[in-house]
Amino acid sequence: MEKIILTGDRPTGKLHIGHYIGSISSRIKLQNEGDFDKMYIMIADAQALTDNAGNVQKVRDNILNVALDYLACGLDPQKCCLFIQSEVPALTEMTFYFSNLVTLSRLKRNPTVKEEIKLRGFEESIPVGFLTYPISQAADITAFGTTIVPVGEDQKPMVEQTREIVKAFNSTYGQVLTMPEAVIPKIKSQARLVGIDGKGKMSKSLGNCIYLSDEPEVIKQKVMSIYTDPDHIKVSDPGKIEGNVAFEYLDAFVKEDSFEKFLPEYKNMDELKSHYKRGGLGDVKVKMFLNNILQELIAPIREKRKALAEHPEKVYEILFRCCDEANLAANATLAKMKKAMGINYREYFAGGNKF
Ligand code: ATP
Ligand code: MG
Repeated sequence: MEKIILTGDRPTGKLHIGHYIGSISSRIKLQNEGDFDKMYIMIADAQALTDNAGNVQKVRDNILNVALDYLACGLDPQKCCLFIQSEVPALTEMTFYFSNLVTLSRLKRNPTVKEEIKLRGFEESIPVGFLTYPISQAADITAFGTTIVPVGEDQKPMVEQTREIVKAFNSTYGQVLTMPEAVIPKIKSQARLVGIDGKGKMSKSLGNCIYLSDEPEVIKQKVMSIYTDPDHIKVSDPGKIEGNVAFEYLDAFVKEDSFEKFLPEYKNMDELKSHYKRGGLGDVKVKMFLNNILQELIAPIREKRKALAEHPEKVYEILFRCCDEANLAANATLAKMKKAMGINYREYFAGGNKF
């Protein structure tokens, strides 16, 4: 079976370290290993409009921001297809047919959508498009025959919903759609990176992010404001690791050589954590260590991004070329779907069937 990868991001802001560790780093790893037939990365502008209907400018501006972040992180347009969702109309048509295979109560049960509704304060005023975006995600995934979806944990219910739609479509109309699988980071803090305030997931919509384009002083200032253990007041106090954002970030981002480079008096996270727990290790020292690790990660991305941002027209040229390619693949899937459903009328009558 072919190995086809698809992921995407909503153009609602610049990308942050949660995206990097939850999804982009796996994409780059997969890309560089080269063990796949096709890789699609989608800028989900139509999905972003489901909760930004009155703010098209924000969505439009962030298409470039997200594309710049992709290229700066090392996604290579020679190896993967970076396209814009609304430029591929077959996705909208597929969504419409998929909607008939999903119940309202099933949509309302989706835990990620539930959480997002609460965060946005939608209650009864929820736009229908927002509630149904998991259906449009099913179209995005299946249009390309996707087998692997490398995403953060919040997307697990979406891939689950897609799998149910694939099952329903194939059993109703015939075997057309490919069953996808989510690939989620194994390390908990990577699969769902918490925001700097420790309140929820790091998310563009919540303003609790460290961005891949942040300047060094901004990164440092954000790291210093990270939520730790409120009862760890004096350095000598014993500290708590659970719910301590600084340690969650260290678990997510520490590399094999990080201690040797930036904190040689400790060998590994276990040593650092046990010192913190028994007391005698201050938050500032932990945060300075984290700051060094994040500065090292972000600096090359930020600098490459600045260079790319000087030629936005070249970035759009890449995106539009990829949109053409994505249209070919999605149109082919839609044609197969319509044939299986028996709504390919022209083909049907041209094939000698009676009017
Ligand atoms: P928005 O607030 O507009 O929903 P977002 O920050 O949640 O933005 P998305 O564009 O919805 O970002 O998500 C893009 C990808 O990044 C998805 O694969 C998602 O699972 C992953 N991702 C987003 N936030 C995190 C996070 N905090 N930790 C790990 N992965 C994340
Ligand atoms: Mg999101």
